[in-house]
Amino acid sequence: MAFDYLIVGAGFAGAVLAERLATQLGKRVLIVDKRTHIGGNAFDTYDESGILIHPYGPHIFHTNSLEVIDYLSQFTQWRPYQHRVLGSVEGQLVPIPFNMDSLKTLFPSEYAARLERKLVERYGYGVKQPILEMMNESDADLKYLAEYIYKNVFLGYTLKQWERKPDELDASVTSRVPVNISKDDRYFGDKYQMMPLHGYTKMFERMLFHPNIKVMLNTDYREIAEIVPFDKMIYSGPVDAFFDYRYGKLPYRSLHFEHRTLDTAQYQPTGTVNYPNEYAYTRISEFKYITGQTHDKTSIVTEYPRSDGDPYYPIPMPEFNALYKRYEADALLEDKVLFVGRLATYKYYNMDQIVAQALSVFNKQILPNEPRAD
Ligand code: FAD
Ligand code: UDP
Repeated sequence: MAFDYLIVGAGFAGAVLAERLATQLGKRVLIVDKRTHIGGNAFDTYDESGILIHPYGPHIFHTNSLEVIDYLSQFTQWRPYQHRVLGSVEGQLVPIPFNMDSLKTLFPSEYAARLERKLVERYGYGVKQPILEMMNESDADLKYLAEYIYKNVFLGYTLKQWERKPDELDASVTSRVPVNISKDDRYFGDKYQMMPLHGYTKMFERMLFHPNIKVMLNTDYREIAEIVPFDKMIYSGPVDAFFDYRYGKLPYRSLHFEHRTLDTAQYQPTGTVNYPNEYAYTRISEFKYITGQTHDKTSIVTEYPRSDGDPYYPIPMPEFNALYKRYEADALLEDKVLFVGRLATYKYYNMDQIVAQALSVFNKQILPNEPRAD
C-alpha cells in the first residue's frame, strides 16, 4: 500500500497533521513513532497501582487560543484545573511565581509592606514582571528584592535545569515564570487552563482513529522509509538528526524522571513543589492534583536534569539559535518534507503552541497546495 504522507512522530505535531490530512483531505497517512506509544511527551498511562501518571513529567494544558481549544475539543472533554506551585525558599514553601504572599512570608511585615507599595507604584497591581528586567531597577529596595528573588528562586533552579545562569539564556526562558505583582498564585497566566477529562492518550486515540490513518509504533522511520512507498513526509523528530548532524549536534536538555507510588493518599500540599536551592532535582509533582483522580495511594515524579538522554528541551541561546538557522535553511530546501514540532523547529514551545503551529502548517502550507484525495 502506498501512503500520501509518512509522518514521523506521534506527539501533538504529528497527530494534529495526521488528523487534518485524513479528515480534511482524505489523504492516506502512515504515522510512525520509535516509542511504544502515541502522544509523544504528553503520553499518559495508568501505573501499576491504577494511578494516571505522565511518564515524561507533568503536562498541564493552558492557552490563550480559542482556535486551539475548539480544535482539541473535537477529541476530548475537559476538566477545569489551575496549577499551583510552591517553591522551597529559606526553609519555607512560598508561591511560585513569586507573589505578594511570597513576599509577606519571607520578609518582616513592615518591610514587606514597603516593598509591596513600591512594587505597585512602580509596575502597577496585577502586572507580571520578568525577573531579568526587575534586576535593572534603580530604586535600592526594589533592586535588593530583585536580587533576592533572582538568587533564591531563579539562579539555582536554572543552573540545575540548563547548566547555565538565567542571563545566559534568552530572556523568554525565565519570563515564563514572572514575578506577580498581585496575590495571583496560579503557575500559568493563560485565559484557559484545563486538563483533558480522560487524559491525553485517550484524546490522541480519538485523533488518530480514522480508516485513512495507520499507526506504527516501536519503529524508527529510517527502518521503513526505504521500504514503504510514500509521497511526502512530515518530520517532528530532532532536526539535526534528520540531517545526520551535518553542522554538528544541536544541544537539547534532558531529564531523568524518578517515579514513585506512595502508600498515602497525599504527599505534598500542591501539584508541584519546586526546589531551586537544594537537592539535585528541580521539582516534584503529584499527579492526582493534576488529573483530579481519587485513590488511596498517590504517585509522584521527581525531575533530575541532565545533558544526555532523550532530547526534551531545545536550549534557547543565540549561538544555538544560529546553528538551528543553518539546519532550517536546509529544511526549507527539502520540498517533500515539512518540519513541525518542538524538536524539529528547535523551539521551546508548549503543547498549545505546537497545536497552533501544526494547524498553521496545515492551513497555510498544505491546504492551498493539495487537492482532496477523494
Ligand atoms: P514530541 O511530543 O516530543 O513528539 C515527537 C515524537 O517523535 C516523539 O514521540 C519521538 O519518539 C518521535 N520521534 C523522534 N525521532 C523519531 C524517529 N527517528 N523515528 C520515529 N519517531 C521519532 N507543555 C505544556 O503545554 N504544558 C506543560 O505542563 C508541559 N510540561 C512539560 C514537561 C516536560 C518535562 C517536558 C519535557 C515538556 C513539557 N511540555 C509542556 C511541552 C510539551 O511536551 C511539548 O510542547 C509537546 O509534547 C511537543 O509535541 P511534539 O509533537 O512537537 O514533540
Ligand atoms: N525557573 C526558575 N525557578 C523556578 C521555576 C522556573 O528558575 O522555580 C526558571 C528556570 O530557568 C526554568 C524556567 O524558569 O527552566 C521555565 O520554567 P517552567 O516551569 O516553565 O519550565 P518547564 O515546565 O518548561 O520545564
